[in-house]
Amino acid sequence: MTTFKAMVIDKADGATKAALTTFDEANLMDGDVTVRVEYSTLNYKDGLAITGKAPVVRRFPMIAGIDFAGTVETSNHPAWKADDKVILNGWGLGETHLGAYAEKARVKGDWLVPLPATMNAREAMAIGTAGYTAMLAVMALEKHGLTPDRGPVAVTGAAGGVGSVAMAILAKRGFTVHAVTGRPQEADYLKELGATEIVPRADLSGPVKPLAKERWAGGIDSVGSTMLANLLSMTRYGGAVAACGLAGGMDLPGSVAPFILRGVCLYGIDSVMCPLERRKEAWKRLETGLDRQKLATMTREIGLSDLSDAAAAIVKGEVRGRIVVKIG
Ligand code: NDP
Repeated sequence: MTTFKAMVIDKADGATKAALTTFDEANLMDGDVTVRVEYSTLNYKDGLAITGKAPVVRRFPMIAGIDFAGTVETSNHPAWKADDKVILNGWGLGETHLGAYAEKARVKGDWLVPLPATMNAREAMAIGTAGYTAMLAVMALEKHGLTPDRGPVAVTGAAGGVGSVAMAILAKRGFTVHAVTGRPQEADYLKELGATEIVPRADLSGPVKPLAKERWAGGIDSVGSTMLANLLSMTRYGGAVAACGLAGGMDLPGSVAPFILRGVCLYGIDSVMCPLERRKEAWKRLETGLDRQKLATMTREIGLSDLSDAAAAIVKGEVRGRIVVKIG
């Protein structure tokens, strides 16, 4: 019988509790590929799951962790064989299917993408779901037709995971990037990643006007709520915003004015059920479209035993950049 360490969330008396424990391989869920997990990462959603702050987990007991990079141990799937290096983001991992904070995962081969040839497992998870989502957002803006000559792009939640990667990608593509942050003390960090201007969070936190002064050609928003509504009202004629997060709230207290009077477009970004081909494209672009030195600057490594503290910090908006979790 094989057992391994895992961060397991269980439910008792209506409350959830996360603990590092020993898990029996026989209790892994069905899947045609078994993976030796090497690295995972801490995303905002993992923070919500571990702290129990939002009902992310929909099956108990659940191994937390929504993404991993690792090596295939056994496979009955035609696309994968032992020793293949793979990545998994989303598909319900850590929510409905036993997740990534464990030395082993059994998953559907259809969920996996190959680890890009020039990337190691740690780098892939330094990017993680936050970074892959940032690339999906950039792809949506570029598909819209946004080019650097159209004007600056605002990134909200700039010092967070999605924000940090989004800024580095946009800067490498030649965009002028404005970092919207509640942490002005991180100005040097944000500029190192590519921001040319630091915009106080307060500028986008006030009452939302139907149309405000046009400031940005586009935006990537991981905050939602008043911040997203203000961002839309400040987006220039014909511009676009990619919305991917709710760190500030799930509501959208704005008006249709930016859409119908300025032709502004709002793109929704979902990484969890994103079709395989778009995932592959995002990971391919991440191979060359993200400066690895900047990635290293924004990344800190922890172990499974540090997850509880880190989870509490990320839901409070206190984590800077990305956290990789060493598993194997
Ligand atoms: P982080 O916690 O790393 O980043 C969120 C950032 O938002 C914070 O660092 C902070 O930035 C800002 N922020 C936090 N709380 C507030 C608040 N109350 N008001 C305004 N700004 C706030 O999380 P991630 O980057 O990992 O994720 C960001 C969001 O994107 C989350 O909501 C997450 O669920 C979502 N997400 C969605 C995905 C999808 O598929 N759609 C995939 C991945 C993430 P600063 O201090 O600079 O202001």
